[in-house]
Amino acid sequence: MFVKKKIIGILGGGQLGKMVLDVSNKWGIDVHILDPDKNCPSSRLCSKFFVGDLMDYETVIKFGQSADIITIEIENVNVEALKFLESQGKKVFPQPNIIEIIQDKSEQKKFYLKNNIPSSSFKIFEGIDKLKDLIIKGQVSYPFIWKASKMGYDGYGVKKIVDNKSLEKVNDCNFIIEELVQIKKELSVMIGSRESGETVVYPVVEMEFNNESNQVEYILSPANISKELEVKAKKLAHEVSQKFNIYGIIAVEMFLTNDDELLVNEVAPRPHNSYHYSIEGSYTSQFEQLLRSILDLPLGSSQNIQNSVMVNLVGDLNSKGPVVYKNFDQIIGIEGVNPHIYGKFETRPNRKMGHITIVNKDLKKAKDIAKHIKETVIITGKK
Ligand code: ADP
Repeated sequence: MFVKKKIIGILGGGQLGKMVLDVSNKWGIDVHILDPDKNCPSSRLCSKFFVGDLMDYETVIKFGQSADIITIEIENVNVEALKFLESQGKKVFPQPNIIEIIQDKSEQKKFYLKNNIPSSSFKIFEGIDKLKDLIIKGQVSYPFIWKASKMGYDGYGVKKIVDNKSLEKVNDCNFIIEELVQIKKELSVMIGSRESGETVVYPVVEMEFNNESNQVEYILSPANISKELEVKAKKLAHEVSQKFNIYGIIAVEMFLTNDDELLVNEVAPRPHNSYHYSIEGSYTSQFEQLLRSILDLPLGSSQNIQNSVMVNLVGDLNSKGPVVYKNFDQIIGIEGVNPHIYGKFETRPNRKMGHITIVNKDLKKAKDIAKHIKETVIITGKK
C-alpha cells in the first residue's frame, strides 16, 4: 500500500460516507464508520461498522479509539468527544473548534463578522418573544429570513418570513434572522488543504434550487459567471478557508447579489452536494481530495475533465416507504449519464435518494439532459 497503514474513522454513514468509501476501497485503506442506523448507505462497504449516536460523548470516544484519523460527513456530532480524542493524539479533521462554529448558525455568522468576511446582516435571538417585541417597536420589519441556530439542514430550519402569520409558524428556539438578500445566483467553491501547506481550489459551481422545497436541484460546473466574478469567488472562498485554518475540505456557499456582490452564506467543512459532480467531472473527486488531505498526501488536480451538471434524485412528494426507482431504463442509455444510488431502503418526500451526473462538453446540453432526467425518473414508495 502506498499509504502508511492508518485507520480512518468517519462519523456518519450516509451517502457522503459511502462515496468516500468508494475511494478508500479503491486505495485499500481501512475505514471505520459510526452511524445510528445499521442499514445506512455505508454500513456494508466499510471495514468495520459501529452502531451508535453521533451526539453521545462515550460512543464517539469509543469509536474514535478504534481509528488513527477521524473525520465527519455530518456536523451534528459530539464536539467535546472529538476535542478529547484530539488531546489524546488522534488526528481530527476538520479540527473540532471549526465543527463547533459550524454547528451553530449564530456562531458562524459572528465568525464572519469578526473576520471581515462579507455576509448578510443578522440578529441573534434566544426565543420568539424578543423578536415579536422588536417588530412591534418597529425595530425589525418584514420580510426577513428566519434560521434555527442548530440542527438545520437542506433548508429545513430556514423560512422566509413575510408577515405576522408566517412568523407564527416558526419554532420557538434559539434562532437568527437575516436580511432577505436579493439573490441573482447561488454559488459554491470547494477548497482542499493539508497540513504540509498545500491548498487547491475547485472551479466555482452554480447551485439551482427547487422553489418549493428550497433544496438544491441542479449543480452546474463551471458556473456561468464572468471571469472577474470567478476570480473573486475563488479568492473569497480561499480567504474563508484560511480564516478557519482548516485542514481537509470545505465548501463555501455564497450568494451573488443583484448588485454583483458576493456574500458568504454558510460553509460545509466536509464533502458537499455541490461537488458530487467531481466524481466524473474532475481529475480528483472531492472524496478522494478529502482522503488525500487528511492523510497529508499530495493533493490532486481540482480541474474539470469535462463540463458537468448534477441533478439530485429525491423522494416524490406523495409517498414514503420501501423505495422503488421508476423509469431508469429510459435515461441510462444517454451518453454521459452517470447514476448514483445511495442504497437507502426507505424513501420520504424530498429525501435525497441518489444523484446523476451528466458530463458533456456543452454545459447547456448537459442541463437539458438533467431536466429530462428530473422529469422522467420517479422515486417513490409505491409499487
Ligand atoms: P441549510 O443550512 O439548511 O442549507 P441555508 O442557510 O443554506 O440553510 O439556507 C437555505 C437556502 O435559503 C439558501 O440556499 C437560500 O436559497 C435561502 N436563503 C438563506 N439565507 C438567505 C438570505 N439571507 N436571503 C435570501 N435567501 C436566503
